[in-house]
Amino acid sequence: MDESRNKDRKYPSQLDPNSKINRIDKTNISIKALIESDLTALTQEQIFYRSLYAYSTDAVFLLDAEGIVIDINPSGQQMSGYTLQELKDSDFNLFLFSEDVAKSIETFRSALTKKRTEKLKFSFRAKTGEAMTVSATIVPIIQNDEVVALLGISRDITEQEQSVRILDAQNKVLEMIAKSTPIEETLDRLLHMAEYETGAKCSIHCYDKKNHAITNLAAPSLPEDYMKAVEGIKVGEKGGSCGASISRKEIVIVEDIEHSPLWEEHREVALRNGLRASWSLPLIHGDGEVLGTFAMYYEVPRLPTKKEMEFIRKTGYLARLAIEQERSASLIYRMAYHDSLTRLPNRRFFQEKLGNSIAEAEENGSNLAILYLDLDRFKTVNDSLGHGAGDDLLSKIAERLKQALGETSFIARHGGDEFAILTEDQQMSQAEQTAQQILHAFVKPFEVEGYELFITPSVGISMYPQHGTDPAALLQHADSAMYQAKEAGKDTYMLYDAQSEKNTSARIMLENDLRKSLEKNELHLFYQPQISLSPDRRIGAEALLRWHRGNREWIAPIDFIPLAEETGLILPIGEWVLRTACEQGKQWIDEGYEPFIMAINLSPRQFRQPNLVQSVRTVLEETGYPAKFLELEITEGMTLNVEEASEKMKQLREMGVHISIDDFGTGYSSLNYLKRLPISRLKVDRSFVQDVETDLGDRDIVKAIIAMAHNLKITVIAEGVENEEQLSFLKENGCDEVQGYLFGRPVPADDFRRGMDAQNAPKQ
Ligand code: C2E
Ligand code: MG
Ligand code: MG
Repeated sequence: MDESRNKDRKYPSQLDPNSKINRIDKTNISIKALIESDLTALTQEQIFYRSLYAYSTDAVFLLDAEGIVIDINPSGQQMSGYTLQELKDSDFNLFLFSEDVAKSIETFRSALTKKRTEKLKFSFRAKTGEAMTVSATIVPIIQNDEVVALLGISRDITEQEQSVRILDAQNKVLEMIAKSTPIEETLDRLLHMAEYETGAKCSIHCYDKKNHAITNLAAPSLPEDYMKAVEGIKVGEKGGSCGASISRKEIVIVEDIEHSPLWEEHREVALRNGLRASWSLPLIHGDGEVLGTFAMYYEVPRLPTKKEMEFIRKTGYLARLAIEQERSASLIYRMAYHDSLTRLPNRRFFQEKLGNSIAEAEENGSNLAILYLDLDRFKTVNDSLGHGAGDDLLSKIAERLKQALGETSFIARHGGDEFAILTEDQQMSQAEQTAQQILHAFVKPFEVEGYELFITPSVGISMYPQHGTDPAALLQHADSAMYQAKEAGKDTYMLYDAQSEKNTSARIMLENDLRKSLEKNELHLFYQPQISLSPDRRIGAEALLRWHRGNREWIAPIDFIPLAEETGLILPIGEWVLRTACEQGKQWIDEGYEPFIMAINLSPRQFRQPNLVQSVRTVLEETGYPAKFLELEITEGMTLNVEEASEKMKQLREMGVHISIDDFGTGYSSLNYLKRLPISRLKVDRSFVQDVETDLGDRDIVKAIIAMAHNLKITVIAEGVENEEQLSFLKENGCDEVQGYLFGRPVPADDFRRGMDAQNAPKQ
């Protein structure tokens, strides 16, 4: 008998103590005498009743008015598994399942007081451990108008009852699965049902493929001590019945744990917890993958009946469904809330988390720090090494961030190369420390596709509640602080500051306007003449970009080219410059002006474009401008990758296009490239020309540049020539060409044409 079930049992003696029936003198019960009497002394009628009682296939029991067992017939003994000796004089209700006791007491009371036959359906646990359900007719035995005993005639309806009950329970579990109830709840329900039906203690374990071990999922009645001991047991022949069932992929029945080799290593803890028999069924997914096991334990050694085997399979099936459903739901959840590349939480997850953290922080009066991180020049990696490398770098960065910040921070991938980090309960100074940890994490290079890449982040910080109290404001402010960090030179962090944000918004507006500048025809090219010193004549023009923003203010290139470069807008703009300059050049040729070199400036990004050569060719073809009159100005920095630059420049040169080095002398590159690249002209930077009258150093530099270029058979042009003194110094030192305000400022095409007309006009 299961002792634990008896603790809260109510006894029939709790019936009204004043009731007449409770005061029956047991010695007076003639029916008892009848049962215990010697057969020879009985009348024919009595013998007839006696054999009905003894040979009935129904279980018949006799209780006294207090519900104490007086007798039970052989069928009853067989059904319950208990002998008469074991049952006699015990409280009948002690044997019932606790949930049936109240009903039983009520039925007895009614039979006793109303003196009429009653029906009672109840369940109890047979000695074998099996749950039984019977339907009983309770007949009051009346003597002298008093009920002296109760006769119960009962029929085993276990099977039909159980199948209805199991079906109900299974339907309930299925419903829970369909409604995506948390798996712990669903499995708990399932195991409670299984334990009720079988009298076993049950558990469900997951199979942890990575560690080849089992982990606990549900076990409502197994002792904690035991569950702790089996957590993480290795799968295999030494892993108890569960471990073996997973590795064998078949049901494993251990009749007696005490003697099973499978239990060698875990026997002690099982026995210590009173477990003797263990049956484990592996839960196998349709594709053959093992998900876990369903296990049943008994406190006595035993083998399952056929019926129980069927029950195990049905229960295992439901457990499997629940786990599969949980898995697909969690997969969908993962997909919806995580970034598949870095496996970090995604933007949606971050925003939900931020919302929740704000609510908590508001309640506790604590602080939050939001750190917004953007990688500096990540696009360069994508452009030069391809997207595969970019992806690889992003995952490595995610790993590095996780390592650097540990569990305390919530790290999410917020966009392409942007990460958002939330740290709870941080003061401003701690948030700054976190930012420093982040910067520090980028000091070592990242190894990507065999390259060692150095990349840096810019980090913006906003604080709750100082900088905002809702997710949108906090994120926006962290983002604008990040822009400020970029403006401050990148590879740094900034705390949000409302004033600097105003500047940032101005910048954002500038970017927006610049985006629209092309379609709104706000871009213009100005042309500045280039003059040869011997003979003294116009040999070229440099096309210089101007932006007539909103058709109101003129914006110099220095104020928008860096932004265009950073945002990528330089590509369509650069293409427009090339085309417009060539169209203009062609028009002047068509108008009869003597053809001259049209110089246009290329930005680094344009030069890096893989299709640069092709797009120059297309523009030349489409405009009809002769390649030999086109010059592309690049800067020293663009020649750093000599191999790549040389290939492009060779192709351009083959087409007839010239290449010049702009702002020469300001870069730090080795001069080696001058020998290896097909360069037509060096443009001495204006900063040297400016001071040639006064600065001896600059004079020497200019002289050296001219000498070196001539040595390499490269023409030299000086930029920014503003006065006669500069001009005569350049002339004296053999400079070939000049450009500067002294000869003409950059002007619109019509003005430039007028300038040409004036020069060509016959001198008065
Ligand atoms: P840059 O290519 O070195 O252009 C020469 C700059 O010096 C021009 O400034 C020009 O107006 C200025 N300049 C010419 N002569 C004198 C002079 O005698 N004195 C002084 N003080 N300045 C003189 P601008 O037009 O403001 O252009 C600045 C820079 O913007 C250019 O420098 C070039 O790097 C860039 N840029 C201009 N147009 C384009 C373009 O279409 N594409 C690209 N990628 N960059 C451009
Ligand atoms: Mg230039
Ligand atoms: Mg220049």
